[in-house]
Amino acid sequence: MPLRVCFVSAEYSPFAKTGGLGDVSAALTRHLARRGHDLRVFVPLHGQMELAGVDRHPVEFLQSLPLRVGQHEFRFSLQTARVPDTQLWIYLVDCPALFDRPRIYSDAPDEHVRYLALTRAAFECCQRMGFAPDVMHSNDWHTAFAPLLLRHAYAWDRQMFGGTRSVFTIHNIGYQGVFSAAQAGDVGPGIGIEALHQLDLGAGRINPMRHAVIYADAVTTVSPNYAVEIRTPEGGYGLDADLRARGDAVVGILNGVDYDEWNPTTDRYIPHHYGLDDLTGKLLNKQALLDLLRMPAAPNTPLVGMISRLARQKGIDLLLDVLPELLATREVRFVGLGSGEPHYERFMHGLQERFPGRATFYSGYSEELAHMIEAAADIFLMPSLYEPCGLNQMYSLKYGTVPIVRRTGGLADSVQHFDPATGQGTGIVFNDFDSGAVRWALDTALEWQGWPTVWRRLVLNGMRQDFSWDRAGAEYERLYQQLTGK
Ligand code: ADP
Repeated sequence: MPLRVCFVSAEYSPFAKTGGLGDVSAALTRHLARRGHDLRVFVPLHGQMELAGVDRHPVEFLQSLPLRVGQHEFRFSLQTARVPDTQLWIYLVDCPALFDRPRIYSDAPDEHVRYLALTRAAFECCQRMGFAPDVMHSNDWHTAFAPLLLRHAYAWDRQMFGGTRSVFTIHNIGYQGVFSAAQAGDVGPGIGIEALHQLDLGAGRINPMRHAVIYADAVTTVSPNYAVEIRTPEGGYGLDADLRARGDAVVGILNGVDYDEWNPTTDRYIPHHYGLDDLTGKLLNKQALLDLLRMPAAPNTPLVGMISRLARQKGIDLLLDVLPELLATREVRFVGLGSGEPHYERFMHGLQERFPGRATFYSGYSEELAHMIEAAADIFLMPSLYEPCGLNQMYSLKYGTVPIVRRTGGLADSVQHFDPATGQGTGIVFNDFDSGAVRWALDTALEWQGWPTVWRRLVLNGMRQDFSWDRAGAEYERLYQQLTGK
């Protein structure tokens, strides 16, 4: 039976994305729409969105609407935009005072107000459109007050929200959106101080994500293993006890991959297509990328790739000694793409300076280069400290680029350590968060790469994996059905 789903997110690929949240929001909602569910997707109209050529228009009867967040008064309008290459239209919440900023996220003092406004705008629009959702699905700290708003601020509207169940997805528990208790008034109207977490308030803070964990009808996270890890003191970042208290209401659903976007047989960004039956194109892509980056190398020289936010979470600390050592002692090439914390960027730039023609770092965001690296590299490096799901290791598998991952979160759910004796496994998986372990993993990869039949087996095992959204989407649908009884 088709369900009415209101989906709220700070990011939505390709319009606004800093990482997995954008990809997952887009892929999941596209899947649900294709399955015939009735969706209303709300995303901010961010100032830096690339919307040239996108079909979009104002929603006539939803213009210049008042919106209150605490004592702040705003006006917002709604636009509808068609997601490129689909029949799905989403809503962009146009409120320049809050969203016309140079970046999607900032550390401005009104950061919590911006996303409370988005969340409230979704409720207000549902009311004005006469859309009574079966499910209100919100994501990460930005929209984490949705379950509480549903129970308190909008509970009076039984006609619209009396039957609504809330789902909250944790894409990354490392970012909880904490702000000062002095701003408690901003959570209103309709939510009094007594509804907020009292211990946090006493400690002078408000934690949006904690409220979602407590109030949502179901809490999902993006891999089964991460669902276990966040219930432990090491992985829970202070929310583990609240998560444990929710028992079976917390579930892990491994993200899918959008194979319309990430598929070496059709990828629009790569010059040479290839697939399971013929890998010639992969070699040609490697040559093309090495030429482009002016990194001459023999065809069998291993190319190690990395695409990552440059944050502590991503395990860059483990590479500070290992990568220079590797480049100094072995015949390898390295290409990195990413941006983030300045000291990591300096490290990456330093590699390029120290090893010209052997290492290249592109600082910034490039969809095109990301696809090209996946298609060209032999080995993909993802040594994360923690990783809720991770997408690049799954892209790598599809592209025949052997992933080196740490056994954490979704990496452990999606990559199995290869065993040359049995020929089973899809990558190289190490356990300990130390440089010795990464060194071992890289040495192992380079050794296996020297045995063409073993390497080929490993590459093909990965390419045969299927992480399509059909599986993940069906799990979300089952959850929605269980919650709503529909
Ligand atoms: P996270 O959400 O923690 O950043 P994920 O692996 O879940 O990590 O998702 C990251 C997504 O963002 C992937 O699609 C990856 O290709 C993309 N990405 C990250 N950094 C860049 C970049 N500098 N340029 C292009 N794509 C990037």
